[in-house]
Amino acid sequence: MLRLDVEMLKRMPGEFIRLELQEEISLFELQGRMWHFSAPVKVNLLVSNTGSSIILEGDVSGSLKPTCDRCLEPFNYFFKSPVKESYAHIPNNGEVVSYSGDVIDITPEVIKSIILSLPMKSICSEDCLGLCTKCGCNLNKGRCDCENEDIDPRLSVLQALLKKTNS
Ligand SMILES: [Zn+2]
Ligand SMILES: [Zn+2]
Repeated sequence: MLRLDVEMLKRMPGEFIRLELQEEISLFELQGRMWHFSAPVKVNLLVSNTGSSIILEGDVSGSLKPTCDRCLEPFNYFFKSPVKESYAHIPNNGEVVSYSGDVIDITPEVIKSIILSLPMKSICSEDCLGLCTKCGCNLNKGRCDCENEDIDPRLSVLQALLKKTNS
């Protein structure tokens, strides 16, 4: 959990602090899919006390280890996403999150920021060749002997090159 200690700040309206937090978060679930972190999550923040609420603004960075949608191999995905949130000490029904005590758990907002930065598809590399549709071998690691007619155009270029060098 990413804990934001506001004990000092909440007694100083109009003041702000800069801080950097780092935390090991193991994973989060999104639409039935597990996203594992491969490094601690870092948060750079400017936290200010407006008098009525605590506002945080900054960015979140780190890396995840998703599985490639094409070749099914895990890979490192680096992210850096903005985070902005208001917290009111007094519960209210507005667009702010209420908190009590001296510590705010900002983990939900940090995860939300990461989720918003995720790509639609997770692909290990733009050049990923994926798996052979016939034998299932990982085409990034080597060529198989299958005769694939309806294959990725990038792969056919590669195959043409290989044919040239082999003949
Ligand atoms: Zn891949
Ligand atoms: Zn094959």
